[in-house]
Amino acid sequence: MTNTSLSYKKNKWSIITQEIRSCTRCILHKYRRNAVPGEGSLEAKVFFLGEAPGRKEDEEGRPFVGAAGKLLDTLLRNIGLSRNQVFITNVVKCRPPNNRDPRDDEVNACSMYTNEILSLVNPDIIVTLGNHAGKYVFAILSNRSWLGVSRHRGRIYELTVGVLNKRVKVIPTYHPAAALYNPVLRQELENDFILIRKVLDSISGKHEGKTLLDFLGRGGK
Ligand code: URA
Repeated sequence: MTNTSLSYKKNKWSIITQEIRSCTRCILHKYRRNAVPGEGSLEAKVFFLGEAPGRKEDEEGRPFVGAAGKLLDTLLRNIGLSRNQVFITNVVKCRPPNNRDPRDDEVNACSMYTNEILSLVNPDIIVTLGNHAGKYVFAILSNRSWLGVSRHRGRIYELTVGVLNKRVKVIPTYHPAAALYNPVLRQELENDFILIRKVLDSISGKHEGKTLLDFLGRGGK
């Protein structure tokens, strides 16, 4: 069995999830009801990295199942993707108390899992949702400076990601929660998802003649 075969990946994933569920490497384990390792296709080309589980995620043990998750589902649907075609996880796998931001020591303690998951999925595109994820991929994994999500969003970066030992397209964007009640950010987030679709098509060699309107589900008849 090669370490890229699906059955190898499934076995390894079940080991990683067990480790995460019993992890006590940082203080967050004391507060969790359920750890949230992540979910999606282990063969996904597109890897979404979020911040931290919230209340609903902690209850269900699944990433992005609350209000921000509903928006993420819509954004994916708009570009013709579903959750089971991508992979979704967070820089910390347990909910911080009162939904506070994850601290650097917690992100670092969880990095062995984040990196193991990344290596396992081995994506071609990493989409960072919000500042914590952007900083993680830029500053920690790629040794690049991170100037904040509003400075980096809307662009495609070709970064050498150490744990993957290859160049990857990185698309930083806002966290969906930030766009829930902000129409300007929501529009920018939608535009960034269109960029994801374009990059995905370009690496899959697809030229289907689709327009932006098709991806937004507003194409004329
Ligand atoms: N916000 C995140 O960053 N991740 C989740 O899983 C849910 C909300």
